[in-house]
Amino acid sequence: MTDGTAASQSGVSENGGAATMPSAGPRLSEFHRTMPVFYNWEIHYSCNYRCSYCPFTVSGWHTFSSKNAYPPLSRLESAWRRLYERYGKGHIAISGGEPCTYPEFVPLVQTLTRMHSVELNTNLSFDEEKFAAAVDLKRIRLAASFHPQFAAFEDFFKRTVYFKERGVDIFVNYVSFPEQLEEMWRYKKEFQAAGVPFYIMPFNGKYEERVYPQGATEREKACYDAAMNGVDPETWINRQRREWPGHPGQYFPNGVTPSEAARLERQGEKRVVPPVVAPELAAAAKRAPVLCLMGYRYCKIRPNGETYRCCAWLAGNTDLPKPIYLGNLYEDEKFSLLEEPAMCDYTPCPCERCMVVGEEDRWRHRWVTTE
Ligand code: SF4
Ligand code: SF4
Repeated sequence: MTDGTAASQSGVSENGGAATMPSAGPRLSEFHRTMPVFYNWEIHYSCNYRCSYCPFTVSGWHTFSSKNAYPPLSRLESAWRRLYERYGKGHIAISGGEPCTYPEFVPLVQTLTRMHSVELNTNLSFDEEKFAAAVDLKRIRLAASFHPQFAAFEDFFKRTVYFKERGVDIFVNYVSFPEQLEEMWRYKKEFQAAGVPFYIMPFNGKYEERVYPQGATEREKACYDAAMNGVDPETWINRQRREWPGHPGQYFPNGVTPSEAARLERQGEKRVVPPVVAPELAAAAKRAPVLCLMGYRYCKIRPNGETYRCCAWLAGNTDLPKPIYLGNLYEDEKFSLLEEPAMCDYTPCPCERCMVVGEEDRWRHRWVTTE
């Protein structure tokens, strides 16, 4: 099936019911078939910090702990080796919670980098020298999150520069929380002077009865704009996100549905991630199916090993058939990704980097590995 009309006749229903699987072959190029697989691994819902703006803190970390699983390192190594043998070297983006508080964190990353490249979304609160001595740094990317509520700037900056000087691909993420806006421009300037990109993550949530980002005061917007001066293209992307409040899925910690968020709000939580779904998106007619590589060159892994095609489907529903639920990476020795990309009409797609065939100019530069 090579045209949109034919493709639109075979899709995947919203509840995951797979319709006729299309023949993706004619639309795939060498690029699609050989690009590395990107694994998005939420390793556990646990952290040594308690940032007040963190969705997990807001909802209560205890509500997530039952979703964690800690298989022995040998089992994890086997699982990742099977993927390596089947699909070659891939790129594992590890987030949480906080990856560095996972048991045997350094040996685990050391093991993984013997097969794959690894990206850590981390608060950098680990022993950098021990890490650097054990791990192949050429295969590491660090998305280092600076949280002034728990980390001193000087210490965090020093750690960042330590990795930068050793050639690590490192950048800093910073949440534009109202209480930490005033210094944002200065932090950005210092990191950029050290050659470290500084990305602003728009704060989404409730603070002092205002819902952000749309409720920001003029003073707060001025702070934001001060940090945006001298922008680089990536920062510009973040500014666009600030002005784009209707992107569902982005505002919920995994496992917390809009109705749960609404319940927490009724219970009087001080800051609750708002159930932001722009009315025009919620009311939108189902979009035409697209051929998407997610599930074929990407998958989303939960802390208990359950693995899904992409972020659109919240954890906990293993009754969904392929192409939505792919299996349990930790437990299933026959676990596999999709043999071919599959059609999808999920509306709206929650991923700004979704790998839709025919739209490569939009997403291919956003999916890059180290080494
Ligand atoms: S460091 Fe990250 S995961 Fe931990 S509490 Fe802060 S925002 Fe949440
Ligand atoms: S990323 Fe978007 S288009 Fe791709 S499978 Fe997920 S919901 Fe569908």
